[in-house]
Amino acid sequence: MQRYAVFGSPIGHSQSPRIHAAFAKQCGIAMNYDAIEAGHADFAAKLAASGVRGANVTLPLKEDAFALCMGNASTRAQRAGAANTLIRDGDSWRGDNTDGSGLVRDLTERHGLDLRERRVLLLGAGGAARGVAPALLDAGIHSLYVANRTLARAEALADALGEPGRVHPRSLDDLARLGEFDLLINATSATRGGSLPTLPMALAGRRSAAVDLSYGEAAVPFLAWARAAGCTQALDGLGMLVEQAAESFLLWHGLRPETEAVYAELRARNDGLVTA
Ligand code: NDP
Repeated sequence: MQRYAVFGSPIGHSQSPRIHAAFAKQCGIAMNYDAIEAGHADFAAKLAASGVRGANVTLPLKEDAFALCMGNASTRAQRAGAANTLIRDGDSWRGDNTDGSGLVRDLTERHGLDLRERRVLLLGAGGAARGVAPALLDAGIHSLYVANRTLARAEALADALGEPGRVHPRSLDDLARLGEFDLLINATSATRGGSLPTLPMALAGRRSAAVDLSYGEAAVPFLAWARAAGCTQALDGLGMLVEQAAESFLLWHGLRPETEAVYAELRARNDGLVTA
């Protein structure tokens, strides 16, 4: 039986085992997929001891995972400086990052958004923001404003993306001066602590769409703000979660699973789910 797992902390409410079990059943692959609690200090040891052929990595370990596979990481993982997918390669690991393509696929294919030439605000500069930013640029957006509580992290992300004409780092204190955006993405973990940063209503209008990368209770404050600000679409991160998992599954097994039934089942069960 092939073994796979997701590593992170907290990991108890992870939906990844359920998603991958459904994909494996659909594709006729016999595999175990566990959720393993691990932090910065014990991740490498637990990964080595687990015997897995592949792993997903979630908060707070994506940069640790990238460090483990730095010489053998995909271009998109290198641009993100973070890996969410590890593939065993003999005694070492190859790394990739499927978060960005997962988000873009959810927005464009499931929700019909056209990202080309769009003005995009990305709130946050942590692991998730690093994962989605390169894919948004590759999808043809016009410009990306990265606004983060710690300005230095927004600046570091903008530097790593290497497109100074299109990517603009900002502090959360500067939001009032930025005007209206076509797409607003909450990639902060602020609402896990119950506190959405103060967001001026002028950031969004009737032509804007908003997406919170989290889902369940954690997505409620930002999506409520987005609706109050007039956004036509206010989406959570459940679709991205399923799509990034499908892309990881493809990397491990060479098969792309069909996602709609898994998404529909998770959507139906979603009440009260708060973690990726
Ligand atoms: P990180 O810990 O790497 O980054 C957290 C980010 O949130 C940082 O930018 C941090 O700012 C900001 N932040 C935290 N608290 C506050 C606050 N009180 N006010 C303002 N900003 C704050 O987390 P991740 O990037 O990995 O995850 C972010 C979110 O994305 C989580 O909710 C996670 O569940 C979700 N996610 C969803 C996925 C999906 O598939 N749907 C995949 C991956 C993540 P600073 O730099 O100043 O500390």
